[in-house]
Amino acid sequence: MIDIASPLRLRIDSAALVSNWRWLATQSGAACGAAIKADGYGLGARGVMKHLAAAGCGDFFVATWAEAAALMPLAGDVSLSVLHGVGASDMVAARTLPARPVLNSLDQVARWRESGEGRPCDVMVDTGMNRLGLRPEEALGGALEGLKIETLLSHLASADEDSEQNDRQLAAFRALRERIPARRYSLANSAGICLGSDYGFDLTRPGLALYGGVPRREADGAIRQVAFPEARVLQLRDVPAGETVGYGATWTAARASRIAIANMGYADGYLRCHSGSGGARWQARTLPLAGRVSMDLVAFDAGEADGLGEGDWIALDYDLPEVAARSGLSQYELLTGLGGRFDRYWI
Ligand SMILES: *Cc1c(COP(=O)(O)O)cnc(C)c1O
Repeated sequence: MIDIASPLRLRIDSAALVSNWRWLATQSGAACGAAIKADGYGLGARGVMKHLAAAGCGDFFVATWAEAAALMPLAGDVSLSVLHGVGASDMVAARTLPARPVLNSLDQVARWRESGEGRPCDVMVDTGMNRLGLRPEEALGGALEGLKIETLLSHLASADEDSEQNDRQLAAFRALRERIPARRYSLANSAGICLGSDYGFDLTRPGLALYGGVPRREADGAIRQVAFPEARVLQLRDVPAGETVGYGATWTAARASRIAIANMGYADGYLRCHSGSGGARWQARTLPLAGRVSMDLVAFDAGEADGLGEGDWIALDYDLPEVAARSGLSQYELLTGLGGRFDRYWI
């Protein structure tokens, strides 16, 4: 097959990724792992794992066994956990892959026991989110006795807010820790780490903040941007004053304008809600988005970008907290939405 470069690329800054992990590790006051589900929040789980493992990260979390399988063979002695546990159709993968299930229900616990593996597993207890995990009364009712629990986990529902639910979940998890033996205990995601080292226990599980997301103001200034989407200019055109650009004619040239058409659109995860606030940069010049985003194309006002030519790369504005506030998308959606047409490359 011929290797043809895409007109979209995602530059991924490995030094920023590692710097974010180190900051999170320091704040954790505990071992710091990494959530790399959804293909490393869209950046590429394999690359994220490689760079973080080299920096000393030893614990990784994916959602499904298919995601775990895609990471094989594992390098070195990293630990990999599968957050969604074991469904009936997962047992072959769970038996063969060097990863641990995070058991999420009494059914999953029974399934794991029946498999007769006797291998260590992780267990999720629910302390108020009501998503996955055994209820406290289920976890304390004897179902876990004799299980080799490597990590007992719970997950915070409102850590990105100043919510009393955080204190309640912390207290509930502490109480469970007294009564359920495990080698390690783990509660905090990125936002939870920002709540203070009380939430750190033995192991933390950041995702978003590794990749440049700022989950709470405590992380302002400490977290660096990691993902930099770029698109090639397909065409430059002159639009006379008074004419409009794009579907629905939502942008009108106030003066004779130079418009750059870029090779990117909502099919690449650059959604229509960027209209009105999105933008890009070329050599420190600003290119505001003009009109509606199409499926594969988007127009930018290149009036300030003298010298920009067809085939040049423009860098999208993609500072996650800022763009999230402007677009109404979450920082998670901004990352995980970036599509397969972006060539990922690490620097
Ligand atoms: C996704 C996930 C994390 C990471 O959360 P962030 O908010 O991205 O830091 C941690 N733990 C569990 C159980 C998760 O599902």
